[in-house]
Amino acid sequence: MAARVLDGTKIAAEIRAEVTGQAKALALSGLRPGLAVVLVGHNPASEVYVRGKVKSSEEVGLYSEQHTPGESATTEELLELIADLNRRDEIDGILVQLPLPAHVDAKKILLAVDPAKDVDGFHPMNVGYLSTQRPGLVPCTPAGVMEILKRSAIPVAGQEAVVIGRSDIVGKPVAMLLLNQNATVTVCHSKTRDLPEVCRRADILVAAIGRAGMVTRDYVKSGATVIDVGINRITDRKEFERFFPGNQAGNKKREETFLARGSTLVGDVHPEVAEIAGAITPVPGGVGPLTIAMLMANTVKAAMLRRGLKQPELSQV
Ligand code: NAD
Repeated sequence: MAARVLDGTKIAAEIRAEVTGQAKALALSGLRPGLAVVLVGHNPASEVYVRGKVKSSEEVGLYSEQHTPGESATTEELLELIADLNRRDEIDGILVQLPLPAHVDAKKILLAVDPAKDVDGFHPMNVGYLSTQRPGLVPCTPAGVMEILKRSAIPVAGQEAVVIGRSDIVGKPVAMLLLNQNATVTVCHSKTRDLPEVCRRADILVAAIGRAGMVTRDYVKSGATVIDVGINRITDRKEFERFFPGNQAGNKKREETFLARGSTLVGDVHPEVAEIAGAITPVPGGVGPLTIAMLMANTVKAAMLRRGLKQPELSQV
C-alpha cells in the first residue's frame, strides 16, 4: 500500500494561521514582534529565501526589516550592525542569512547575536538550552520536522528514530528534539558502517544529507515514517529518469515542469520509498514550507520570552 503523504504546505499554513492569531492578540497590548533579516552581498538563492521570510512576516502581522550590506562588508561592520539590532527594543528576532562571504568570520557574527533574539537557534546558548531541555529558541527546520510528526499524530516516545546527517543546522538538533521526546535515537553520517541496515531499524527515519535520492527502499522498514529534509536540484535528464520513470503514472506533470525549467527539486529520499513507507514527506511540499512558518513562530516566541510573557501554544517552539 502506498504511504500516507504528509502535507507540509498544509501544516505550515495551519501554523502561520496560529501565529497570525498570536500576533493579533499581542497587538491588542501594543506589541508587534519585529524580525530583522541581514543579507550580505548578492547570493541569488539567499535573496529568494530572504524575500520569502520578509513576505511571510508581513502576512502574519509581524514587523520586519531587511539589512543588505554589500559583498565587501567587513566582520567589524557586521558586528556593529548586530550590536545595534541587539540594542533595539522593537527588534525581537535577528536572522543572519547564510552563507556569509568567505572573508567574514561567520562564527563570530553568529556568536554576537543576542541569544534572546536568535530566531535561527544557532547560538551555542540556545544549543545548550535545547540539550538541557530549558526554554530557548529551537532551529526552524528541526522544529518543523517535530510539528509534522505531532500534527500527523505519529508517535515518537519509545520509537526507534534514525537521523541521517549530523549538521549543526539540521541533523543534530533533530536528533536532540527526538531524544527530548523519548525516542531511541541513532545519528548516522558519512562514516557510518552498514547504513541501510541501521536505517532499517527505524520507525522514524529522518534524511538530512544533501544527496539526491540516496535513501532507497532497502533503507526503509515497511510501514516506517520517512521525513525527507533534503533539497537537491537535478538538471540531468538521466538523473530525472532515475527518479521519475516515464512509464509510471503521476510523473507526467513533473516531466512537463522539468522540460520547461530544465531542473526540478528532489529530496534525499527516492520516490520508490513511498511504496513501502507508512508515511512520507514529499519534496517539494514537505519539510521545506515548515522552515519559514517556524521562523514566524520563533519570532513571536522570542518577543514573548524576552518580556516574560507566557509562551505561545505551539508544540515545539
Ligand atoms: P550538511 O552538508 O551540513 O550535512 C550533511 C550531513 O550528511 C553530514 O553530517 C554528513 O556526514 C552526512 N552525509 C553526507 N554524505 C553521506 C553519506 N553518503 N552517507 C551518510 N551520511 C552522509 O547539510 P545540511 O545543512 O544538514 O542539509 C542537509 C540537506 O537538508 C540539504 O539537502 C539541505 O539543502 C537540506 N535543508 C533543507 C532545509 C529545509 O528548509 N527543508 C533546511 C536546511 C537544510
